[in-house]
Amino acid sequence: MLSVELHAHSALSHDGRDPVELLLEQAAAVGLDGLAITDHDEIDASIEAAKQAADHGLVGIVGMEVSSAAGHILAFGIDERVPPGLSFDETLERIHQQGGIAVIPHPFQKSRHGVAPHISEDQLASADAIEVYNSRLFTGRANRQAERFAIERGLPMTAGSDAHISEMVGQAVTEVGVDERSAEAVLEAIRHGRTSVIGHRTPWHISLRQFGGGAKRRLGHILDSLRQND
Ligand SMILES: [Zn+2]
Ligand SMILES: [Zn+2]
Repeated sequence: MLSVELHAHSALSHDGRDPVELLLEQAAAVGLDGLAITDHDEIDASIEAAKQAADHGLVGIVGMEVSSAAGHILAFGIDERVPPGLSFDETLERIHQQGGIAVIPHPFQKSRHGVAPHISEDQLASADAIEVYNSRLFTGRANRQAERFAIERGLPMTAGSDAHISEMVGQAVTEVGVDERSAEAVLEAIRHGRTSVIGHRTPWHISLRQFGGGAKRRLGHILDSLRQND
């Protein structure tokens, strides 16, 4: 079994803070086996991290968080950036064309660009997996809703800290039922649902700081999130 962090942002994300080096160090320090950097609409830092991962004793998984027209979609196992703004279905198609898998993060968190309000349930169920635990939660309702959906539809489940600062890497861990230490083996196991999910919520003061994103987001937006999210 391998423990992997599948949702973390580097400084290449407009709202991320830390270089890949720090994220890799943190992942190794908290005892993870693998890490995927998933920047918003960027892939370069993730490719770099995947190259450096072995130096830290980690499995590096290339990924990104694509801003589709319907909302956020995590792509793993790709090697080229998937452009933002495409429809939900086309985004999945582009990910699959590259041999990757599509995992839907925070699907029911509307104010954080969850896709569920903008697509049908069948479309949501066409993803390879659902992120059923996202650490940046407010009450947990949206996570429970995601988990219920995944169980009802028999979809593989993942977790993600959605870390925007290195200290939060490993807050949510996906345990993958595989021994081979390679990205391909990890993604194949996820595709087959051989996962279990362990999550801790991001502490409030850090959630707010991450949401603050260096004052890129206004306080009003934060308060809206608090009201709408869960
Ligand atoms: Zn997101
Ligand atoms: Zn994210």
